[in-house]
Formats: sequence, C-alpha cells, structure tokens
Amino acid sequence: EVPMTTLTSLDSEALNRLHDTVRAEYEAFKARGLKLDMTRGKPSPEQLDLSNPMLTLPGNGDFFAEGNVDARNYGGLQGLPETRALFSQMVQAPADQIVVGDNSSLALMHGTIAAALLKGVPGSKAPWSDGAPTFLCPVPGYDRHFAICEEFGIRMIPVPMTGQGPDMDAVERLVADPAVKGIWCVPKYSNPSGETYSEETSRRLAAMETAAPDFRIMWDNAYSVHHLTQDHHTVPDILALCAEAGNPDRAFIFASTSKVTLAGAGLAFFASSPENVRWYLERASFRTIGPDKLNQLRHVRFLKDDAGLERHMAAQAAIIAPKFEALLETLEAKLGGTGAAEWLRPAGGYFVTVDTVEGTAKRIVTLAKEAGIALTPAGATSPYGRDPHDRTLRLAPTFPSLSDVRAASEGIALCILLAAIEKQTG
Ligand code: PLP
Repeated sequence: EVPMTTLTSLDSEALNRLHDTVRAEYEAFKARGLKLDMTRGKPSPEQLDLSNPMLTLPGNGDFFAEGNVDARNYGGLQGLPETRALFSQMVQAPADQIVVGDNSSLALMHGTIAAALLKGVPGSKAPWSDGAPTFLCPVPGYDRHFAICEEFGIRMIPVPMTGQGPDMDAVERLVADPAVKGIWCVPKYSNPSGETYSEETSRRLAAMETAAPDFRIMWDNAYSVHHLTQDHHTVPDILALCAEAGNPDRAFIFASTSKVTLAGAGLAFFASSPENVRWYLERASFRTIGPDKLNQLRHVRFLKDDAGLERHMAAQAAIIAPKFEALLETLEAKLGGTGAAEWLRPAGGYFVTVDTVEGTAKRIVTLAKEAGIALTPAGATSPYGRDPHDRTLRLAPTFPSLSDVRAASEGIALCILLAAIEKQTG
C-alpha cells in the first residue's frame, strides 16, 4: 500500500522497498490485460442516448420555422431566429449577434482565422498574413487550438494559467507587440485545467491596450453549461466588457452543442459585435447558401427553452459526474500526500489535469500504454506538443464506462507513483 508520506522524505532503503512494492502492483495491473482509453473528451454512448428523441424531430410534417420559413430550403445564413434566441443565454450574446453555423465550433474558429489571415478583420490595416501573426496560448490549453495555429504558421507564445485564467501581467506585456493578433481562451471549466476565468481576468482582457488594432480574443466557451456540481460557475459577458472598455470588436465568441446534444450532429455558434457579425456573414456568404436549418429546428423542438437545456445538462452531469468522482477519489487514495502529483477538482467541463513530478509525464504515458491504458500524449496541452517541464497529463473520463474509469484511474495512479519513484532513485 501507498504511504501517506511524501516520497522525498523517505530514506533510500524505504524508497527502494516502495519501488519494489509499486513495481509489483504495476506488473499485477499489467497482467490483467485491460484495454482502456482516457484520451479524448468525447461523450459516452449513454450521454448521446439522452438526445435520441431528437432524432425523430422535427418529423416529416414539421419543417416550417418562425415567420413561415421553410427549413428544408436554402437561405437563412445567420440561422433561425428561434434557435439564436434559445441559445442566447448559453452563448452569452444577444440573439441578433449570434450566427448558427454547422456542426463544429472548431470549424468556425478555423474559418475565422483563415479569413483573418487572407483578408483581415474589422480594424485590420492589412491581412494578418502580411506580418508574422502570433497568438498567445494559455498553457495548459486545448491541443486543437494550437494545431490550427501550427497548420497556418501562426507563431505561438505560451502563457501560464494561474487558476483564474491566464497570467494577465504576462499577457499585457506581450500584447505590446503588434504582431500579436490574438489569444486562445476557454473561459469556463477550461480545457484542460477546469479553471474558470475570474472577473478581473476577463476585464483585463477586454480593456488591455494592444499594439495590434485588430487583436482578437478567441473566446471559446465550449463548456458554458457543462456543470459537474451544484456550484455553477459564471463568466462575465465578454462582449459587454469589450464594448464598455471601448474595444467593441475585440472578442469572437464560439460555442457548440457537441457536448450538449450530439457531438457529430450538433450546432455551432459564432457571436460577436454587430460589426464583426456583418464581417463574418459576408465571408460566410461566399462559402454557403445556408446552414442546415432542419437541425436547428430539431434542437429547438427538443430542448425548447432555457429550462429544457438546464434539465438536459443536469442529466448529462448525472452520467459523467460519478466518473470524475471515481477518478479523483482514486488519485486521492493512491497519490494524496505523496507529492507525486497535484490536480484540481473541476466543477465542470470534460477534463482533469494532473501535474506530475517534473520530467515524468512522457514516462507515465509509456508505462500506461504498456499496461493497456491509452493516455493523451504528454505535451499535448502545450503549443507544438512541447511541455518544457514534461509534467502535465490530461485525463478524460467521460467516454469509458464507470468501471473502466475506476480501473484506468488505478492504473494511472500506479504509473504516476512508479515514475516519481524511478525519478527519485535515479
Ligand atoms: N473547443 C474546446 C475547448 C473543446 O474542448 C472542444 C472539444 O473537445 C471543441 C472546441 C470542439 O468543439 P466542436 O465539436 O464544436 O468542434
């Protein structure tokens, strides 16, 4: 059994004994021949089942939206008014400043950045690609955000997260460079740390002086309604804060129902200032004659209103909260007090971030793989996949079954402990 004492306080004899014990436990775990996957933040089949009733909606006789709009036909680039109204609270923007895209918010982020590079955004003197466009990347962050930057050759500068969002002293210093065009933000239940930006962080982002007149906050509110506890976090209205500070066009908001309804067949949202929405719709008009309005109607018929959305998200939480609990309990039982790892208990979102002993994350992922547990590659939460401390693990407990999460958590804790002991024994 694991001692509730820090590893560093053990003498070398005690440490060697512990090494033998933990190694034996690890080998026993490995011998179970399990095949477990804690890599991606996907909803489980059980969560997707919650939205099965939506699959028969709107039905073959219900295709007229408000204002006698035939949802089967072309048009309606901005999205149905009733869909924009339904998601106005979740997206935190007035309905007339929301655009309903297709099924992926990541695609909308990719598209807005591509357009910014080629044509610029409101406030640009030239397309972003004329310079050496650079983004600030709060770390740990979402690997797919960083991948978009890498894909387009946008330079990335890591900025540490603080528990209240990004280190704003660093951000304010870095935006004095006119090449810095944007910052990635997951303001609520952040991917992957789970932290929520404070009021002060949000205010400073909205008000800071940026050398680039066309600087953008990529406000990816992917987990806006994805609570795990009764403590529902809130973030300020970023569009209002930016407008108040005299920077009305600074924030691009993104969100989706990928983890509300269906991860392959949900709705994605872009929201911003009236000027940015005009800009966005003009770009979109060259790309499509209109979105899938039947899916928009389907979501309205299914979720109905804010109360319906809230009930649905409570049902989601009831499925996944026990998985987070199982993971956190196991980490606490196996690693608490050892000094081998630190983690936050997230109040929402899809991830648990574990900071291990410096220089052991890669080793842990390898040990886990050999024991049949797939983990996200070490480094994935940093730009270019490089974690200079080789310390951060991102764990995603939503997709596997509860019993698989329990088993995987046990195995992961053993790997973390074993790697920490190996590091210390040299
Ligand atoms: N943004 C964040 C922060 C995410 O964690 C994810 C998915 O994990 C996405 C965006 C992807 O969203 P979508 O399915 O709408 O493309």
